[in-house]
Amino acid sequence: MLSRRPAEVGISVADVDTPALLLDLEPFERNLRKMADLASRSGVRLRPHAKTHKCAMIALKQLQSGAVGVCCQKTSEAEALAEGGITNILITNQIVGELKCRRLGALARQVQLAVITDHLDQIAAYSRAAEEFGSTLSVLVDVRVGGQRAGTDAGEPVLALAERVAAAPGLRFGGLQAYNGTAQHIRDWGERRAAYCKYVDKISETVELLASRGIPCETVTGSGTGTHKWEAESGIYTEIQPGSYIFMDTDYAANLDEAGAGWQDFEFSLYVLSSVMHCGEKDYALVDAGTKAVNIDVAMPAVSGRHGLSYVHAADEHGWLDVAPQTPDLKLGEKLRLAVGHCDPTVNLYDWMVCIRNGIVEAVWPITARGTVL
Ligand SMILES: *Cc1c(COP(=O)(O)O)cnc(C)c1O
Repeated sequence: MLSRRPAEVGISVADVDTPALLLDLEPFERNLRKMADLASRSGVRLRPHAKTHKCAMIALKQLQSGAVGVCCQKTSEAEALAEGGITNILITNQIVGELKCRRLGALARQVQLAVITDHLDQIAAYSRAAEEFGSTLSVLVDVRVGGQRAGTDAGEPVLALAERVAAAPGLRFGGLQAYNGTAQHIRDWGERRAAYCKYVDKISETVELLASRGIPCETVTGSGTGTHKWEAESGIYTEIQPGSYIFMDTDYAANLDEAGAGWQDFEFSLYVLSSVMHCGEKDYALVDAGTKAVNIDVAMPAVSGRHGLSYVHAADEHGWLDVAPQTPDLKLGEKLRLAVGHCDPTVNLYDWMVCIRNGIVEAVWPITARGTVL
C-alpha cells in the first residue's frame, strides 16, 4: 500500500510539496545512454543493478536502452520487479533459508532467474526448491575478490562449487559472479585501478581452471559504477552490473579521475526537494529533510544551485544547514534541492519518484520494490 501521490503531472517543480524525491529526466536519460553505449562498444552485456532504484519503470527503461536484464539483492525485490514486467533477473546475493528458497523456486517458473552461491548446503537447498516447483534455477558461484564479504576464494574452491552446481537436479551452472564493492569508492584513480587489476587476474585464472575441467563459464558478471569501464574492457567479464550511474550521489562524486580532478563520468539526476522550515539565525538554518527523508550513512547531501549552504547534520525530521557569512538570506518555505549523499538507501525511503523535465512534472513513478527487505 503506497502513500498518496505527492504531485500531479503538469505542475511546476516549485509547486511540489516537500520532502519529495525528484528525478531530473534529462541527465537521467543521458546517464542511461552513456552506460548502454559503453557496454555495447566494449562488447559486454549490461545488467544494471536495480537495488539502486527499486523501480520497475526504471528497469524497463534500462531494458529499452539495451540492458539484457537487471540485478537485484533480495528475493522479494525480485518478485516485485517480476510483477512489474521484468523477465530476466539475477539476484546477486546468497539466499538463505527454506522459505526464501521456495519462493525462488516458484519465481523461476515465471521468469529467467539466477542466483549466486558460496556454500554446498545452499546448493542443495536451491536444488530442492527448484525440483519441488519443477523449475530451473541458474546458479553462479560468487568469487571473493577483496574485502570481507561473502564469496568463495578464487581457484579450486570455486571449481568444487561449480562442479556441485552442474551436477545438482533443477540447477544449471550459470558462471561466475565477482563484485568488489570496496573498490568502487577508492578515491584515488591509481589505487582504484590497482585494486581492479588484482582481482581481474584471479578471475581470469579461475575461468581457465574451470575450462580445463570441462566447465565453461558462459557468464562472468560483476562491476559497479566506480570501475565499470575496466571490467567492460577486460576481455574476462562478459557482463557488467553498475547501479548508481543513473542517479549519482555525493559519495561517488568524491571519487577522483585519472588527472586527480573530480570524477564527472555521470551527472546528478536525483534530488530530495526540501523546504526551509527555520531561518533568520546568524549561521544556520533548518530544512524539513532529516534522516527519514535523506540517507546520511556514507556522505552528506549537498545543496544544489545555492552557494554558502552546507548540509552538516540530521535528526529524524530536521536537516541542519551551515550558512556561510554573506550568504543571501533564506526565506521561510524556500525550496532547496539536495543532491543525495547515497542514492540507494535514499530512494528506499520513498513510495514515489517525481520525474521532472525543464522544471515541470512529467510523470510520477511508484517505487514498486521499496521496502522489499525479505
Ligand atoms: C551495489 C552492487 C552493484 C552496483 O554498484 P554501484 O556502485 O551502485 O554501481 C553491483 N553489483 C553488486 C553485487 C552490488 O551489490
